[in-house]
Amino acid sequence: MLGKEYVEKVIKEVEERNKGEVEFLNAVKEVLISLAPVFDKHPEYIEEGLLERIVEPERQIFFRVPWVDDEGKVRVNRGYRVQFNSAIGPYKGGLRFHKTVNQSIIKFLGFEQIFKNSLTGLPIGGGKGGSDFDPKGKSNREIMRFCQSFMAELCKHIGADTDVPAGDIGVGGREIGYMYGYYKKIRNAYEGVLTGKGLSYGGSLVRTEATGYGLVYFTEEMLKDKNLSFKDSTVVISGSGNVAIYALEKAHQFGAKVVAMSDSNGYIYDENGINLEVIKDIKEVKRGRIKEYIEKVPTAKYFEDHRKIWEVKCDIALPCATQGEINKESAETLVKNGVKAVSEGANMPTDLDAIEVFQKAGVLFGPAKAANAGGVAVSALEMSQNSVRASWSFEEVDNKLKNIMKDIYLNAKNAAKEYGDEGNILMGANIAGFLKVAEAMYSQGIV
Ligand code: GLU
Repeated sequence: MLGKEYVEKVIKEVEERNKGEVEFLNAVKEVLISLAPVFDKHPEYIEEGLLERIVEPERQIFFRVPWVDDEGKVRVNRGYRVQFNSAIGPYKGGLRFHKTVNQSIIKFLGFEQIFKNSLTGLPIGGGKGGSDFDPKGKSNREIMRFCQSFMAELCKHIGADTDVPAGDIGVGGREIGYMYGYYKKIRNAYEGVLTGKGLSYGGSLVRTEATGYGLVYFTEEMLKDKNLSFKDSTVVISGSGNVAIYALEKAHQFGAKVVAMSDSNGYIYDENGINLEVIKDIKEVKRGRIKEYIEKVPTAKYFEDHRKIWEVKCDIALPCATQGEINKESAETLVKNGVKAVSEGANMPTDLDAIEVFQKAGVLFGPAKAANAGGVAVSALEMSQNSVRASWSFEEVDNKLKNIMKDIYLNAKNAAKEYGDEGNILMGANIAGFLKVAEAMYSQGIV
């Protein structure tokens, strides 16, 4: 059987078995289509049913999360943990607390995580979890009670050598702290079971900055190949959460001017370059909305409708908000306005037909699983430090992160060349990420 035929057969089976799971199906298609040439070279992988196995999570845990709000009312949310693939290491991946969370979203994120984690070169498998809990407007006490109830069930399924969750949208240092405290209380074990911990209890320097910094390190490598750079470029970053904030910080350090950022309501435009301290104060300290920026910087402008951020003219676009934020139309607008590179800080922010628009127009495209792998890479470094009870310096971790992002770019670039589509970093990242997992699965037998 040819690789293309095999891939098409498996995609059809996945569609049949996972009806209506739009995000998961898109993620599977995006990866599998790239992998066809691998099976022409490795027919033994077809024999071993590698794809049929890799698209099925090893284990899925869905549970009830009951909690009591500040008015004394009982609330019930759904908790999820998908342990997707442990061929190359313990399951690793974030927890997302957002009202849109469902089975399809957690499965798409978990599936992506397999290849992303493999690309880091570190020994971590793929997993993801979360809840449809909406943290917006909740008090600290409500967040704590929710996190404790969530961990009361999750703690039965995770462990430093089994599955190590971390943050994602809606889960930052505060939530990790509450969950860690409760895990320790129930299990009576002081171990690196979560990453993104506070520095006083086993966290790693650079973990907070890692995804945003890593995104800029990766993108700079990609730009360098075409004699371009962040220096003197105009940049648009969607979102204003953890990834966006530290992408802004690093892009400015690299000499770029970031002129627009957004949240789920609207976006701000500041022609002088967005002020990092103001954004940090609004988002990290006050947990407010981005429109408050114009109260502090009156020369900036605020516009309703966050999707319109892609109408702002820029050289480099860094989508750092969430999945499905650049559709075909937004991609065409970006291309018309002369964008040179698009690099994904969020997971799957660009629709498949929008990616095609960029590729046809010759726009450099940094796919999420490569470009935003810096976060999970430093999580893996946090796990290493926890194992040997050490704390590395900021410079040490930052240098490791830089080298990891450089290697991810090189590996993706070389895989694309080797498998016949030079310059297609999306295809190269999928192939390079897959090969290591495939080899491990092949060696470990049918499990
Ligand atoms: N949620 C992040 C991601 O999408 C980080 C996961 C982690 O550190 O485990 O990769």
